[in-house]
Amino acid sequence: MVQLNAQIPDGPMAEKWTRHKFGVKLVNPANKRKYKVLVVGTGLAGASSAATLAELGYQVESFTYSDTPRRAHSIAAQGGINAAKNYPNDGDSVHRLFYDTVKGGDYRSREANVHRLAEVSNQIIDHCVAQGIPFAREYGGNLSNRSFGGAQVSRTFYARGQTGQQLLLGAYGALQKEISKGSVKMHTRCELIDVVVIDGRARGIITRNLVTGEIERHEGDAVVLATGGYGNVFYLSTNAMNCNASAAWRACKKGALFANPCFTQIHPTCIPVHGDYQSKLTLMSESLRNDGRIWVPKQKGDTRPATQIPEEERDYYLERKYPSFGNLVPRDLASRNAKEVCDAGYGVGPTGDAVYLDFSEAIERLGRDAIEARYGNLFEMYNRITDDDPYEMPMMIYPAVHYTMGGLWVDYNLMTTIPGLYAIGEANFSDHGANRLGASALMQGLADGYFVLPNTINNYLAELQRDTVDTSHASFAEAEAEATAKLEKLLAVKGSRTVDDFHRELGLLMWNECGMARSEEGLRKALEELPKIREAFWSDVNVPGSGDDLNQALEKANRVADFLEFAEVMLRDALNRSESCGGHFRLESQTEEGEALRDDEAFAYVAAWEFKGVGEEAVLHKEPLAFEEVPLSQRSYK
Ligand SMILES: Cc1cc2nc3c(=O)[nH]c(=O)nc-3n(C[C@H](O)[C@H](O)[C@H](O)COP(=O)(O)OP(=O)(O)OC[C@H]3O[C@@H](n4cnc5c(N)ncnc54)[C@H](O)[C@@H]3O)c2cc1C
Repeated sequence: MVQLNAQIPDGPMAEKWTRHKFGVKLVNPANKRKYKVLVVGTGLAGASSAATLAELGYQVESFTYSDTPRRAHSIAAQGGINAAKNYPNDGDSVHRLFYDTVKGGDYRSREANVHRLAEVSNQIIDHCVAQGIPFAREYGGNLSNRSFGGAQVSRTFYARGQTGQQLLLGAYGALQKEISKGSVKMHTRCELIDVVVIDGRARGIITRNLVTGEIERHEGDAVVLATGGYGNVFYLSTNAMNCNASAAWRACKKGALFANPCFTQIHPTCIPVHGDYQSKLTLMSESLRNDGRIWVPKQKGDTRPATQIPEEERDYYLERKYPSFGNLVPRDLASRNAKEVCDAGYGVGPTGDAVYLDFSEAIERLGRDAIEARYGNLFEMYNRITDDDPYEMPMMIYPAVHYTMGGLWVDYNLMTTIPGLYAIGEANFSDHGANRLGASALMQGLADGYFVLPNTINNYLAELQRDTVDTSHASFAEAEAEATAKLEKLLAVKGSRTVDDFHRELGLLMWNECGMARSEEGLRKALEELPKIREAFWSDVNVPGSGDDLNQALEKANRVADFLEFAEVMLRDALNRSESCGGHFRLESQTEEGEALRDDEAFAYVAAWEFKGVGEEAVLHKEPLAFEEVPLSQRSYK
């Protein structure tokens, strides 16, 4: 029987983390080198934790399916990273960042974790500056800040539109130093295909070498999954094409609970879909909403070019509806409102599924050079993709799947329900509740990797009775046989449809029924459709080639097979949560003004799902959420 214990420390909110760090058992320096930690993933969370654990003295092995740690999806992050430094002196504080994040998450996150995140945020900036991250600076040399959605202060640190890349270079540099010292063993082009659990504890992983096809066993005293989010279950998303749910899903199948899988973030400012055979969507950073104004024509079906529509015939609907936050409302609100105006027939562009993001007023006020200095690379990217010049014409944008707030359930120590198995960064169910505020994923990934896990993992390792399990143990053989059999089964189908074809079909179903708006009827329909797609996949997928060398179709097929199972838990979770909250909008649960209507009495809990078999209904476990510091209230940005 699974018991959920969040291990939240006692004491006042602002002292919990400090007290906990003191209470955590330590491993003495001479003993640390006896323990081996396997860290899967080299994004911001994985690279920062692997480097830090190695610096502390642990033996670390690091894994990524990419050819270098630097290619992790974190490199794509554009806009920035939050911290409560209050450099602009505009009223920010640790408490305000904590408050904004709990409120922004629509009261579905764990207060103690969010407070810790806000506390650690300032250390992250100091650490990254010490690493040499080239954050934007003011003329006088101070670090510069800009604003992101859901906050009325400027607390976002940035490096032009390449913040993730610069932060990842810092973490990669730290990791590389440990690799060259021999304290981290790096495995590139190496994909986790199963987790090994022995006597109830995580003791290793099974991997496939993506170049040679070789299946390998790796033993460790603890396993850390820093494997990112599952947004690509929707096929089209802003995520890197390789992002997938497999590591987290395989862990779930081995006994780790999966929390809040239906909490997906749909980002309001992406380049709209333009065709059936598109495979990727592009984000235009939220930072653009600092200066860009969002509008649609007041007249339905107005086909005049944007520049010919006079000011009085434009509806700046976010500024009109939410005067306090205007264009900087949180993502869930901005996305839902864009969908609403487009569904009502006010959308622009060839498909009518787009709204304008207009910089003309900012260019007039600040000058083109100032806008170019702030967003130059984003404007260039937009221009290259669409062939339109955003300095002359407003950008056209539409919401797209971007981030997943759900993930493996973890306690305050970031440990899953399998002892010794940790999940960090986007892979855990994180601190963002039902809606993540912009610039807080980088903050969370680095908080987990540089500061939280390197403290909390000591507690587990210090108490561990070291034993002599090695990779010849029967559980390794069993996991390897299972993973290998699955690959062989995929190759043996020899059907007529490509993997992408099935992935696209799954994505469309998920977008239509579990995307920006969900209803009981749609979710039930999807739960009927999904098993049919899964069956069709297993009887008609075509995976050419063999398993003995580089075979990208096989890699993809293995991941899509997992998406096809995992999607069912997402649908079940969305169906169970009949309230609306954050990014999860149930049509049946809205206020008279069409805003998300929470039901705190029935749903103030983390929904953690236990896998019971493919096609079997997963079992729901609830972690009740208490709000002591930020009282529950209807979220308002008016
Ligand atoms: C376009 C874009 C822009 C963004 N901009 C911002 C921003 O400005 N600010 C912000 O705060 N957030 C932003 N985000 C969100 C943020 O970038 C991510 O949430 C964050 O980088 C995730 O980091 P991570 O380390 O958890 O995972 P990732 O960076 O996704 O890394 C996952 C790692 O796991 C490895 N991996 C996965 N599965 C396996 C497996 N089975 N075997 C081996 N290795 C595996 C991968 O190779 C990779 O190394 C943005 C996201 C996108 C898509």
